[in-house]
Order: sequence, then C-alpha cells, then structure tokens
Amino acid sequence: MGLYVILVGVQGAGKGVQASFIREHYGIPHVSTGDLFRAMRTRQDELALKIQEIMKEGRLVSDEVTNEVVRDRLEQDDATNGVILDGFPRNEAQAKWLEDYLASRGETLNAVLLLKLDLYTAFKRAFGRVKHPDSNDVYNIFFDNEDIEWEFEDHPENAYPPRLKAKEKASGKTLDRRSDDANAGAIIKRIDTYLENTAPLIQYFSGKGQLYEIDADQSIEAVSSDIQAVIDQTLA
Ligand code: AMP
Repeated sequence: MGLYVILVGVQGAGKGVQASFIREHYGIPHVSTGDLFRAMRTRQDELALKIQEIMKEGRLVSDEVTNEVVRDRLEQDDATNGVILDGFPRNEAQAKWLEDYLASRGETLNAVLLLKLDLYTAFKRAFGRVKHPDSNDVYNIFFDNEDIEWEFEDHPENAYPPRLKAKEKASGKTLDRRSDDANAGAIIKRIDTYLENTAPLIQYFSGKGQLYEIDADQSIEAVSSDIQAVIDQTLA
C-alpha cells in the first residue's frame, strides 16, 4: 500500500517546507496541481494554451482536465509508493474522483493534513516577509527581526499601506519584498479565497474522519514532528 496524503493550509502556513519534509522522510513526491499547470507554460499544444488562459483569468481548470492531469502524474514511476497532494482536490467532485481512482488501484487516502494557522498570523507571515536579494535568507519584521533593521516609510502619495524598508544588519544589504506580499489587500483576498475554497472540503473530509489538524504556529521541526506522528499512526 502506498502513502497518500493531502496537504491543506493557508498561504504562510508552511505547506512548502512541510511537503519537503514528508517527501524526504517518506520518499514520496510532492504533487502540486498549480505547479503541474504552471509547468505547461512552455507547451504550445491546445490543452496547455487553454490552461494558460484559464490561469491568467484566475479561474479554476475544469474537474475533467484536472483529474486527468492528476491521474497522469500518479501513474508515473516515482509515484508508485504514493504522493503528497497539494492544491488538489479543490472541491468535493475532485475529492470523490480521487477516492474512486485510488480505490480502483486498491489504495486509500491516508490522511488530510490541515496546517492550522490563525489568519492574523498568516497575514503577518506574508506581509512582513523580506528576503536577501542574493542568498535565500528570509526574515520577517514581526517574527524574525533580530538581524535586520526596518521601518515603514510613508508612500509618496500617501497610499496605504506605507512602504516597508528593511536591511540586513551584518551586510547592510537592502532586503527585497515580493510585490504580492506588499499588497495588504491582495493578501487578505488570497486568505479569503482560501477559506471559501477549502471550507467545504474540510467539512467533507472531517465528516469521514480523515481530517487531522496540525498546529502550524510552532517551529518548523515541531510541525514536522506532529505530521510524522499522524502519518505513522495511519500507517500502523
Ligand atoms: P495554485 O498554485 O494551487 O494556487 O494553483 C494555480 C492555478 O492552477 C489555480 O488558480 C487554478 O487555475 C489552477 N489549479 C490548481 N489546482 C487546481 C485544481 N485542483 N482544480 C482546478 N484548478 C486548479
């Protein structure tokens, strides 16, 4: 039997880093439907072009196409021992398709791991994130600010929110901020969309006793350890 887990969490909950942990610890690949669709950007065939248009408009790809792309990914050699699903399923119809598909292979879903983070913390994780331009060092003005100097500077046209200026103390380097992190309204919109999309799914899996809530407001290691405990329990 393979290991099939679904990872759910608001942006900033640490889904990426925990997916890496699961991948390394259990030897199964991380399958993100968003990444699979983005990878089609280099393709020029009809399906890929259609998907690019849908993504540009911020719409969801149809269930039929999404399920096919997932099926194709799950049938690749590196997925024979299971996968970590991220961004899929996004609705109940996809969830049911996945269950049927796994059943047809004699497999079942092990767990849906919900990385739970209060929304204000999720907001601060995105809004306060700054990155060294050359290395991968990431800081946060709210949580990880000992080695940086930062201040808010009034926007020249008094637009809100004010601009964030941050630099690394040791190197004096100016730190970068992702433009989508600088836009408070956009962060809130992403959080709202997440809640809207996932609420019905969370209810669906919770009703089946497959939902496991993990407190994401802990150190990375503590979250990984909680995830490991849940997965090991489902494998026992
Ligand atoms: P993500 O990176 O998960 O936010 O996905 C980026 C985009 O890919 C979404 O806005 C959708 O257009 C598409 N997409 C990703 N996963 C799914 C899914 N499960 N069902 C439908 N569309 C999806």
